Amino acid sequence: MQVLKFGGTSVANAENIKKVIEIVKQSSQKDKTIVVVSALGGVTDLLLNAASLSETGNELYKEKLSEFEQRHLEAVKQLIPVAQQSQLLSLVKKSCNELEDICNGIFLLGELTARSKDRISSYGEWISSQIIAAAFNANKVDAVWKDAKELIVTNSAFTAAEVDFKETDSKINGYYNSQSASIIIIPGFIATDKNGVTTTLGRGGSDYTAAIIASALNAKALEVWTDVSGMMTADPRLTNNARIIPNISYQEAMELSHFGAKVIYPPTIQPVMNKAIPVWIKNTFAPTDTGTLIESTSSSNGNIVRGISSINNIALISLEGSGMVGIPGFSKRLFEALSSEKINVILITQSSSEHSICVGIDSKDAGKAKHSIDIAFANEIALQKVEPLKVEADLSIVALVGENMKNHTGISGRMFGAMGRNGVNIRAIAQGSSEKNISTVIATKNVKKAINVLHEEFFETTFKLVNLFISGTGNVGGKLLAQLNPQAIFYKKE
Ligand code: ADP
Ligand code: ASP
Ligand code: MG
Repeated sequence: MQVLKFGGTSVANAENIKKVIEIVKQSSQKDKTIVVVSALGGVTDLLLNAASLSETGNELYKEKLSEFEQRHLEAVKQLIPVAQQSQLLSLVKKSCNELEDICNGIFLLGELTARSKDRISSYGEWISSQIIAAAFNANKVDAVWKDAKELIVTNSAFTAAEVDFKETDSKINGYYNSQSASIIIIPGFIATDKNGVTTTLGRGGSDYTAAIIASALNAKALEVWTDVSGMMTADPRLTNNARIIPNISYQEAMELSHFGAKVIYPPTIQPVMNKAIPVWIKNTFAPTDTGTLIESTSSSNGNIVRGISSINNIALISLEGSGMVGIPGFSKRLFEALSSEKINVILITQSSSEHSICVGIDSKDAGKAKHSIDIAFANEIALQKVEPLKVEADLSIVALVGENMKNHTGISGRMFGAMGRNGVNIRAIAQGSSEKNISTVIATKNVKKAINVLHEEFFETTFKLVNLFISGTGNVGGKLLAQLNPQAIFYKKE
């Protein structure tokens, strides 16, 4: 069996959904297929927007809900023959009435909990998947719909719930083994906790749903269908020169997604990696493009750096003071203070002088971090052994990723050199001993520039030389090329 996942843009409207049906129709001829779908593009934002407007007492939430209703009514009318529309039209109306009741409650109370947010945002996938299943059948492609809330069990950490794999795997297998249909349509993103209350897997979580199902059923492949032709060397929204990466390892894909490559939701890789299930990233709007293959070992096409990614909204917190030098236990207390506030640590650096520890966190947590750390070190601060926590905001992380980096010297030198020559100041640096990732913390205003100069340094210089070489204008290009990395071979093929 295989699992195909289609994201928001791929199912944004009737026209796109028709493309999805065509792709699944072709693909399902070779194997039994589970199709995981997102909400219609932009709908999750629309619903969460309605929720925040109701919380702040703004009646505009009603307009958002009516937009939600219109988009789905429109999709039903364009995809389903009139005679079969009534059940779906009333499903859309009923969902809108429920959403309106929930938002009215939030409006009156002025209170929006994480649990209510999940309930509200869950309607996006819940309804898109039912419309899409009906559209398959209207196109004479037999498909059944199954609610992911009956298959995926999580804890109650609303808005980013954690999956109970044992229970989930057994429910998925139980259902799948009792189902003979060759195409099953399932909503992504949504789940329930042990009490049957609706939860979600986090923004972008439909990729994760697909991976959970693929792993539970030992799928032959997971295909993630989106709006770009694969994982790229950098975020295509930040550089015009980004290129498709034909092959990438699970580890590299995981690093790139953790450091901001939105094309895959970071937790997605783990379940499929554990079972060595190949993952393809494919483009719904250019289905014949090869895409990217993610698997255990990436074929060595000579690339030293596989990709560049970035995350914004980073705050750097620094605990400094001469009283920390040589005394064990300071970092333990610092990280305990962060973990007691459930603050996720993104990056850590400590100089060997032990005079300061620097931690990169999400900037939304900076206030909480300052408060808890200053309390934890109140005595040392009073005795002037350490300084009150320093917090620096408006920062971003830019990272180079590649398993091959460990076999080459001078990568970080080239990275810092390129950034330095272009006036990008580096505030902190981190590199794990696995050398799969070199991360720098820089001002957010410099991210686009940094991505572009790094892309040029690691992906385009050799490309230009190859062009020079191929165009026959000089052996100079060839000689220089030989001294650089063989990454050029990759570009020469294109
Ligand atoms: P979907 O709705 O299909 O899940 P997403 O919007 O979540 O799609 O992810 C696809 C988008 O990710 C692309 O349109 C692209 O702009 C963005 N993106 C960011 N970094 C990368 C990258 N390294 N490679 C490919 N796409 C990327
Ligand atoms: N619809 C959800 C979101 O926008 C999940 C997803 O599309 O992956 O975050
Ligand atoms: Mg996505």
